[in-house]
Amino acid sequence: MKNMCTDLLGVDIGGTNIKIGVIDGSYNVKDFIKFKTEKDDVDAMLSSICDVICDLKDKYGFSEVGVGSPGRIEDNRTVIEAGNISYDNTPCADIIERKTGLTVYLDNDANCALYGEKFAGAGKDVSDMLVLTIGTGVGGGIMIGRKCYRGHNGRAGELGHFIMDINGEPCSCGLRGCFEQYASVTAFMKAARKAAAEHKESILYEIVGGDLSKIGGRTPFYAMYQGCCVSQKVIEEYICHLSDGINSLAKMFQPEIIVLTGGIINEGQIIADMLAPHLMPFANCVLSPLSGNAGLIGAALIKRERETAAQNVLPFANE
Ligand SMILES: [Zn+2]
Repeated sequence: MKNMCTDLLGVDIGGTNIKIGVIDGSYNVKDFIKFKTEKDDVDAMLSSICDVICDLKDKYGFSEVGVGSPGRIEDNRTVIEAGNISYDNTPCADIIERKTGLTVYLDNDANCALYGEKFAGAGKDVSDMLVLTIGTGVGGGIMIGRKCYRGHNGRAGELGHFIMDINGEPCSCGLRGCFEQYASVTAFMKAARKAAAEHKESILYEIVGGDLSKIGGRTPFYAMYQGCCVSQKVIEEYICHLSDGINSLAKMFQPEIIVLTGGIINEGQIIADMLAPHLMPFANCVLSPLSGNAGLIGAALIKRERETAAQNVLPFANE
């Protein structure tokens, strides 16, 4: 049955998974498909995305789709410097429009998470907010006076790339020791694998049968719940790094809330509970209430964000 035009279609391209969803008028995800990102074959990745979009288009009758992608987005059409996915200078919006016949709204994935929180999540009633997307990398979105702050060149919001250790690990952005190198799920898994390798007697090592590649973002938590001290130490150290970054961002921006979203919040309330003792009193950090779908819901709302921004002439309006 064709919809009554209140449903929206969103695509969230992540470094690990791609999510495509139908969002209803109350911002609930009513239809949902998730598959692995073909990071090294962009043509195959975009083809897979377009196939799913076409299926949903046939089922629901959409004429538009919002797409969130990692990287810098030029002229709302082209993805530049996508970091964790090997596609640069790819005219994503044009390609998807050509293959699906839909009008495509393209934006940075972390900005999409910001729109999701702004319209449907933790930021519905706040003026100033930061959103941190913690997954394969660490992305960010900045809302000041209900508007997404983009900087003079549209590149602002890289909240994962302030330096925590000048002698730290090289980062894909060209700097060293960025927050992302300590706070991403990738960094967390790397620390867990290293700890398991050093502690072959640990529950963590035992759980994966010695195959460290099987340690995912949730494995150390699972092991900790079984009484694994090694996992607990890895998690506590990770939480310290994460809280250091959150405290720094809170000092810099003094937002009403800092919202955490992305893969890390799959663990739920324990993340907030473990963070709480480390946060400064002014760092009001909350977990996204959108079940990991902030980026997806926000992608579906790119058009609404642009229309809202065009109507409100605020100090930071430069679009
Ligand atoms: Zn960096």
